[in-house]
Amino acid sequence: MKRAYNFNAGPAALPEWVLQEAKEHWLNFNDTGMSLMELSHRSKDYEAVHNEAKELLTSLLSIPDNYDILFLQGGASLQFTMVPMNLLPENQTAYYALTGVWSEKAIKEAAKLGNTAISVSSKDDNYTNIPDPQKIELPKDAAYLHITSNNTIYGTQWNNYPTSLSVPLIADMSSDILSTPIDVSQFGVIYAGAQKNLGPSGVTVVIIRKDLIKEDTNLPTMLSYHTHAKNNSLFNTPPTLGIYLLSLVLKWGKQQGGIEGIASINKEKAQQLYDVIDQSNGFYRGHAEEKSRSKMNVTFTLPSENLTKAFLQEAKEAGFVGLNGHRSIGGCRASIYNAVPLDHVVELAKFMKDFQNSHL
Ligand code: PLP
Repeated sequence: MKRAYNFNAGPAALPEWVLQEAKEHWLNFNDTGMSLMELSHRSKDYEAVHNEAKELLTSLLSIPDNYDILFLQGGASLQFTMVPMNLLPENQTAYYALTGVWSEKAIKEAAKLGNTAISVSSKDDNYTNIPDPQKIELPKDAAYLHITSNNTIYGTQWNNYPTSLSVPLIADMSSDILSTPIDVSQFGVIYAGAQKNLGPSGVTVVIIRKDLIKEDTNLPTMLSYHTHAKNNSLFNTPPTLGIYLLSLVLKWGKQQGGIEGIASINKEKAQQLYDVIDQSNGFYRGHAEEKSRSKMNVTFTLPSENLTKAFLQEAKEAGFVGLNGHRSIGGCRASIYNAVPLDHVVELAKFMKDFQNSHL
């Protein structure tokens, strides 16, 4: 069976190797006579998978010893609540960089729990860019700075981070974690829903500096980072299947040459599509300013609504899936996460050129 050209924004394409590997062990995991899904989360076989996923992530992202990795549920959206609940004291203010709809949603949740303020914003520019990270200055009452490292809807991405902050930097990396090397020690917390670069939906990865994990008996037990850190994310039943698939995605990542290998393929994929946009004489227009372009979500418009409709229809007929822009901005979007093969992107680039030539 031919695999679809899947450009969905999330849930998104998974590496074929991961699906084959899971299929191979589907009915009988590790000679247990059971599927992974049927194992107790307290069993040795499951615990080995759980810990291996943590080790693989640690090695791929070079996560220092003073960080904990948590496997939670509730999506990145629950982190919009857990971050301020755990890290925003009453007499301080949480600062947010507003670079798209997901940062708007994050600040909205934080505002229900404490004082919040916007540090920088590209809202007036219709979220076409990322403000200069080195110009961000925070007042003394700041508890942390929250950023969305890749703006899935607008197709913009931070390509460097503030370096001289005196407070923890918190990043929602849902749509670009594991796509390029990062220095984890620059961050207090990194969180990501799995369903773009890490696996299927259902597990949320939180990487948190240990000194930020504090016991607070007033917090609801399940919403406290301390609960999950103290129990190796096994306080309650974790999403075992999601964590198993995450471990396979991470193994696949190693096979790609680790984070450097993944990043170099991602660069090439993004270049393929941005070259078509830049060489189209304005037929395709990128939403993002060039310096803020995302290597994960390529957003663009065509000269008219009718042409956009025709593009999406013809693309669908040619086997391309998920190219509609998000309902809040329209146009088109190609999500080219880690698992989207280079040859699928090459096919899309070719389709875009052919479409332009036949509709001039
Ligand atoms: N943050 C970003 C950057 C996203 O792209 C998304 C989903 O697309 C979310 C948060 C919400 O994630 P979830 O559906 O896991 O709550």
